[in-house]
Amino acid sequence: MLLQDIPGLPETKQKLLQSAQRGNIAHAQLFHGSPGSSQLPLALAYAQYLSCENPGETDSCGQCKTCKQFSHFNYPDIHYLFPVATTKRVSSKPTCAAFQGEWQELLSRRLHFSLNDWLAHLGAENKQAMIRTEDSLRLVEQLNLKSFGAGYHFVILWLPELLHGHAANKLLKSLEEPGNKTVFILISDRVESVLQTITSRCQKVHIPRQSKEALKQHLLQQGHEEPTAAQAALLANGSLLEAERLTNQSERYLEYAELFKDWMRACYSLQVGKILPTVEAFSQWERDRQKEALSFFMQTFQQLLTGGVQQEIPQHPLFQRVYFDLSRFAPFVRPDNTGAIYEVLEEALSDLSRNGNAKIIMLDASLRISRFLRKKAA
Ligand SMILES: [Zn+2]
Repeated sequence: MLLQDIPGLPETKQKLLQSAQRGNIAHAQLFHGSPGSSQLPLALAYAQYLSCENPGETDSCGQCKTCKQFSHFNYPDIHYLFPVATTKRVSSKPTCAAFQGEWQELLSRRLHFSLNDWLAHLGAENKQAMIRTEDSLRLVEQLNLKSFGAGYHFVILWLPELLHGHAANKLLKSLEEPGNKTVFILISDRVESVLQTITSRCQKVHIPRQSKEALKQHLLQQGHEEPTAAQAALLANGSLLEAERLTNQSERYLEYAELFKDWMRACYSLQVGKILPTVEAFSQWERDRQKEALSFFMQTFQQLLTGGVQQEIPQHPLFQRVYFDLSRFAPFVRPDNTGAIYEVLEEALSDLSRNGNAKIIMLDASLRISRFLRKKAA
C-alpha cells in the first residue's frame, strides 16, 4: 500500500513520513479516528514505508522485494489481530488464526471496511465479535519465538476496543517491551472505548476525517459522475466508507431517507397514530441497518438542515427526492434546538448500539424531537 493510494490527509502523511525519516518510531502506536477514516490503510502504508528498501522522500519505492510483498499482503513479518465471531465453518472458539485467509482476501479487495463489512464477509452478521485471550497468547508466543531478520516486525491490531479484558492484559507486557524492531500499530474507530491500560502504553496518532474535496476526488477517480460525487462527499461527514456507500448503495439510503422524511413529518404532527408506523418500520430492520440508518439521519439532519448547504441544490437523485420535504422543516430547526435534536439522535444511536429495544428507543426519541420541533409553532 502506497501512501499516494490513500486519498487526502496530506498533513497526516507528512507527519508519518517525518517520524519515519528521523527514525523516531514509537514501538506502540494507536491510530485512531472516526469510523470510516483511513486508519487501517495508513497503518499499512506506514509499515511499508518503514520496511521499504529504497524509500523516497514522499512514499515507498513500490518496486523492491518488500514493497511487492506488501502490495500482495504477504509480507512475512506482519502479524494481524482482529475481532472474530463464530461462523458456519468455525462454530466454536473462533480465533484470528482460523480467519487469516478471509482477512487477507478482504484486505486485498478493499482499502476501507467497517466491522459490519468484515463480519458480513465472514458470514457472521449480527454476531458479537471480539479478540480473545487465545489470540493474545498466541501472538505473545510468536513474538517470543520469532528470530528476527534485519527488517521491522509489525503487529497490526485492528479494533482494540473489542479486546476481551483478559486478552488485553496478556498483551500489556509485549506492548511495553515488544522487542527489537517490533512495532505495534493499533487501529481504533472508538478510542474512548479502548482500555486505558492499553492506550496509556501507546503513542496516539489521530487520523482526521477526509476533506469534502478529497472525498469528491476519490469518488470521481472511481468513475462516479460529478453531481453524485459532490453530493455524497457533502453528506459523508468526512468518512470515506460512508461516501462510497452513499454512491454505491443509494437504493438502501433512499429507503432510509424516505423513512427519515416520514418520521420527521410524524414527529412534527405529534400524532402517535402517525409516529407509530414509522417506528414500527424502523424496528423491523436488522440492528446494523438501524444503526446505519440513524447515522444517516444524523448526517442528513446536520447537513441538509443546519449545515448551510441550503443554497446548494442537491443533485444526487437520492437527495432530490427527499430534500424538498426536509427543507420544509428548516424553519423549525433553529440554533436553539438543533443541538438538542442532534443529541436525541445521537443518544438513540448509542442506546441501539447497547442493544436496547428499538421500538422503545425510537418512540422516546420521537416524542422528544416532537417537542423540539414544535417549540416555534407554540
Ligand atoms: Zn520499496
